[in-house]
Amino acid sequence: MTTVNLLDFDLDGLAAYCEQLGEKRFRAVQLFRWIHQKGASSFDQMTDLARSLREKLPALCHVQDLPVLSRQASADGTIKWLFDVGGGNAVETVFIPEEDRGTLCISSQAGCAVGCRFCSTGHQGFSRNLTTGEILAQLWHAEHYLRNHLKSSDRVITNVVMMGMGEPLQNYASLVPALKVMLDDHGYGLSRRRVTVSTSGVVPMIERLAKDVPVALAVSLHAPTDALRDSLVPLNLKYPIAELLDACRAYLPAAPRDFITFEYCMLDGVNDQPEHARALLDLLKGRHGHRGIPCKINLIPFNPFPDSGLLCSPRPVVQAFWKILNDGGLVTTVRKTRGDDIDAACGQLAGDVLDRTDAARRLAQRRESVDPNAPRPIRFVKQIKEQQA
Ligand code: SF4
Repeated sequence: MTTVNLLDFDLDGLAAYCEQLGEKRFRAVQLFRWIHQKGASSFDQMTDLARSLREKLPALCHVQDLPVLSRQASADGTIKWLFDVGGGNAVETVFIPEEDRGTLCISSQAGCAVGCRFCSTGHQGFSRNLTTGEILAQLWHAEHYLRNHLKSSDRVITNVVMMGMGEPLQNYASLVPALKVMLDDHGYGLSRRRVTVSTSGVVPMIERLAKDVPVALAVSLHAPTDALRDSLVPLNLKYPIAELLDACRAYLPAAPRDFITFEYCMLDGVNDQPEHARALLDLLKGRHGHRGIPCKINLIPFNPFPDSGLLCSPRPVVQAFWKILNDGGLVTTVRKTRGDDIDAACGQLAGDVLDRTDAARRLAQRRESVDPNAPRPIRFVKQIKEQQA
């Protein structure tokens, strides 16, 4: 008999499920806290539940972890998990430790239908949406692995970014309950400022997110004009820049921060020239007929992958671009490249499962060859220094 995965529920959903079992809401709160705060997956561990309930639950429901195909640790402390989500599909989750925070980058889909030109996930194609339980299992697994591994009773993951594989706003129904669990005080208790949804610009869903669960918003912009953005982010053909910026402006009153973050992947000779920087400045600062918007810019050094036909902008070009924006009054950072030695940097996710048609065979090979508990070898680290505004 198929049993219910309790990771599929936000607290209201779990309360409704408990009600079906004849249990009161406070039982749902107890269960929820055991699962998300203590990492329990066995009902035997849940000692404050009535014994009769503990005995009843295993036949009805469970907490579904994701099988780990591999776990790799970078020399800079970044950890990347490759999780098996069945049917030959795998998704990646990346933990990025910094001095003052620990950020988990979570996937929302197996593959992605948007097909951005500079993104290895986009080249992989779309397989399917993840369930709420599969989105949350990435956080659940990473949080409790890290706590055990670092022998910490404190929360290790302080920030979550929905910036892994997939376009989260194209999996809205699964995303929203997952975000609610991240924010819930009985769940992970993260503040809205510390949970970020990154989108390539699904305009109608930005509007809905503002009403349903307005967390921090990051937008993959990558170009200052429609002509250029059309060629990099195909979704721009449907939702051009003016519409996207209107949706961002409308989002701001609900947003936990008073600015939108724009991501800009630096592609050699494509979007990295001084005229592109000046056009971006005009667009976002509201010059020459543009309306402007309160924002920060994050320049992302491109991570080349096979068959992309693109190269990363040279460092002096990135610096010149940054200077034009910064001198023009746009708060601009250059993202550090983290976890480069394990292909965990931005745009590198799914580098190992590029050919989806052949994914099942390769994943089966990995299962045979990889002991998920064994530490992975570290090859090399390349870091690009962050330039803060
Ligand atoms: S950048 Fe994001 S939206 Fe674009 S193809 Fe990659 S995963 Fe999809």
